Amino acid sequence: MASINSMTDVYDLHCHSTASDGALSPTEVVNRAHRFGVTSLALTDHDTTAGLAEAQTTAQALGLRLIPGIELSTLWQNQCFHVIGIGINPQHPALAEATQHLHTLRMERAEKIAEKLAKKRIEGALDAIKKIVGNGMITRNHFAEYLLAERHVDSLQEAFDRYLAKGKPAYVATPWTELELAIQWINESGGVAVLAHPLRYQLKKNAMKRLLTAFKHAGGQGIEVITGRSNPEEVKRVLAIAEQYQLAGSTGSDFHAPDQWVELGRLLPMPATITPVWELLRLSH
Ligand code: AMP
Ligand code: MN
Ligand code: MN
Ligand code: MN
Repeated sequence: MASINSMTDVYDLHCHSTASDGALSPTEVVNRAHRFGVTSLALTDHDTTAGLAEAQTTAQALGLRLIPGIELSTLWQNQCFHVIGIGINPQHPALAEATQHLHTLRMERAEKIAEKLAKKRIEGALDAIKKIVGNGMITRNHFAEYLLAERHVDSLQEAFDRYLAKGKPAYVATPWTELELAIQWINESGGVAVLAHPLRYQLKKNAMKRLLTAFKHAGGQGIEVITGRSNPEEVKRVLAIAEQYQLAGSTGSDFHAPDQWVELGRLLPMPATITPVWELLRLSH
């Protein structure tokens, strides 16, 4: 049952900070979320929990509820799917060890991407990126920003379309965590596993069925019904999928930077017919 409190809660359960490819520090993300009326925020950086401690400190001072999260890059049948862990314990040994390994994996991948760009006479990308990210996770987004800043492309999208997307010259296939293992880490650390932005993978009905069957079988419990870019028709489509597979609904902006396509907490309402993931969090915390 929803408490009076939850009626006024504003959730955003998917966003990024400088711990991965966000433009704002964890403190800045939390401050901004608070300013935009968010009352429960999950910080979900790519393959890292490094921003959570700082975010938690800031959130406490503001009276905002910070839910520890992560967005894990996973592989299922050789395709990459993003799985959000909400309500995880970043100190859980398997998860902590995994993020260490993923940091190394992302660094090795970044070196390979930089080598491929160098073959296209684009030099110096990795050195420039390292200066910006410090100890954070390097993503393709950082390379896209570099290509844009150095005027090799006119937009981030063009950077992906010409260099970084699958099949393009600087693409590097990466042995991400297997989907089942990622879900296991999330569950063992006390979290709920949520399939992120399910329409972005462009799966046909049958492939979606096989994916979600595997996802559920591995212990996945939620799906992002609302994302920052959802229109009402897309929400309806994912809602039907969520109901069919009996998954809880999550909502998250996938905020990366101010003045991009999506803002913190600016999300369509969660349909009343679905169990929201925060109900599951309440049961386990
Ligand atoms: P990675 O996890 O390193 O492969 O980087 C993926 C990140 O790059 C995503 O989280 C997005 O922030 C960004 N990204 C991926 N594909 C695109 C695209 N087509 N256009 C713009 N940004 C993208
Ligand atoms: Mn990203
Ligand atoms: Mn994602
Ligand atoms: Mn994301």
